[in-house]
Amino acid sequence: MNFLESPEERKAIVKNYYKKTETYLLNNTTDRSNIVDDFSCLIRTRSELYDAEKQACIDKFKYNFELNSALKGWGNSLKCNRCEMERFSRIFCKNCIVLMLKSKKWDSGNTYINSYIGRHQINMPFPRFVMEWIPSDQFNNLTEIGKGGFTLVFKAIWKNGRTHSYNEHDQVFTRTPPREVVIKVLNKNPCENFFKKVIII
Ligand SMILES: [Zn+2]
Repeated sequence: MNFLESPEERKAIVKNYYKKTETYLLNNTTDRSNIVDDFSCLIRTRSELYDAEKQACIDKFKYNFELNSALKGWGNSLKCNRCEMERFSRIFCKNCIVLMLKSKKWDSGNTYINSYIGRHQINMPFPRFVMEWIPSDQFNNLTEIGKGGFTLVFKAIWKNGRTHSYNEHDQVFTRTPPREVVIKVLNKNPCENFFKKVIII
């Protein structure tokens, strides 16, 4: 380890070891039932990483495993106690989360945006990836930082923070603390290309 490394350099080093270990396991494991334990063992042998960094990698891998189980059917088939549909993740039932999202009342005021977000939520309802309508009163300290084409760009503090995980018992997303975000304000109606950009970001 080099104590002169900046936080950004450490982040890149950890990311690199995470990716290498993940790729190795995904390419060499057909039975994914023990893949979280396998990942934990391998990452703990990386002497280049601090203990806290190893733990952060393990937590991230566990989360991604549950997400991939829910999305791609990794792991064992289970019957959900709540909705009685098939599920593959212990922490995410896709059907339950979609039902929770559909029960929420929100309206962007634009039928195209409502329909786009609604469709996206059905395909990808999981925390960190789910698309949401955020009303403007959720943003504090709005400051203009740029202008270009059909957009004005602001930075602001998002009071609620983005979705972080899911509390199945209370059927709510858990969220990050308030965080700084960049907001683009459109001067004309959004089109399909705008949403493609939103997803890529
Ligand atoms: Zn369910």
